[in-house]
Amino acid sequence: MQTTIVAIGDGDTAESIDEKLSVAGDIIRRGGLVAFPTETVYGLGGDALCPASARKIYAAKGRPSDNPLIIHIAEMAALERIVCEIPKKAAKLAEAFWPGPLTMIFKKAAIVPDQTTGGLDTVAVRMPSHPLAALLIRKSGGYVAAPSANLSGKPSPTLAKYVVQDLDGRIDMILAADGAEIGLESTIVDLTGEIPVILRPGYITQKMLSEVVGETELDITIYDSDTAQAPKAPGMKYRHYAPKGELVIVEGEPHRVARYINEQAAAHEAAGLRTGVIATLEQFAQYQAASVKNAGSRCDAHEAAKKLYTFLREFDDEKIDCIYAESFADTLDQGFGQAVMNRLLKAAGHKVIHV
Ligand code: AMP
Ligand code: MG
Repeated sequence: MQTTIVAIGDGDTAESIDEKLSVAGDIIRRGGLVAFPTETVYGLGGDALCPASARKIYAAKGRPSDNPLIIHIAEMAALERIVCEIPKKAAKLAEAFWPGPLTMIFKKAAIVPDQTTGGLDTVAVRMPSHPLAALLIRKSGGYVAAPSANLSGKPSPTLAKYVVQDLDGRIDMILAADGAEIGLESTIVDLTGEIPVILRPGYITQKMLSEVVGETELDITIYDSDTAQAPKAPGMKYRHYAPKGELVIVEGEPHRVARYINEQAAAHEAAGLRTGVIATLEQFAQYQAASVKNAGSRCDAHEAAKKLYTFLREFDDEKIDCIYAESFADTLDQGFGQAVMNRLLKAAGHKVIHV
């Protein structure tokens, strides 16, 4: 398949953007697939109400078809058609955080095909804030199913070039524009029960949610990798974001962490292996390794969130064999630090060393 890559940037006018997105919207209406930027990561969009489009999305990504898709909408009125009911707490959360990086789970209406929800009787819905995403959804008929625009198992793309790397030749169009300021996927909250349950942590933290709706819970599988319980978000059970090199998280007093990682890097180098490090700004200068990445201050997880997936892909390009990451569990913003640690732990297959 020929993939058309359409760049949108500073040289564009409101009219030229409208034209480009009209073409993209037509592709989705006719059952095709278009990758587009959002404020979290790039999405791979198809018509959410068309079973064949959902099947195409799974095929293009190589994604297991029991891993449901999030439906993206552009206005509140669109929600009523695809869910059985809108619980009061969901309405409050929508008021507070939509458009934005929050996905909510509802009981689904019959109009939503089983292919989109992976056979579940619930549906995940998000209203993105990125202006191009919102316009594309409107041009596409109002309901765009969009998982992250990467091949299954690879880190979610935060730059258009990574979408091209993964999906060129597999989908109809890629909209290449700025986006992914947040860099991690949306927070997912299940609103089908009395107490909202966080199934995937993200930019919208538990504290932010609880300030709006009172008590909230965290799905145990997010923080306890040993539990026998299956995650409520089916996608969370798959190994994600895995770089080719072996990734290990190192926790402990900062100077000991740096000393341990440097010793390991020296030993690897002697054995002909290349080491990569994901370092905090405070410790960055301490490391001697083939590739050292600056993930920003340990007091603020936003920089780390924005860069994490890019680092994992760069390590692959740099042929790094062994990767060590400092922990972000103790950042000042515990909530967002938790989201970064959740993705790091998944990428590391939960390998953590205390020094
Ligand atoms: P991605 O599209 O790559 O961000 O992944 C979507 C995530 O949402 C996966 O972890 C899915 O398992 C989860 N998800 C989508 N729909 C549902 C649903 N109805 N119930 C629970 N989790 C869902
Ligand atoms: Mg994904």
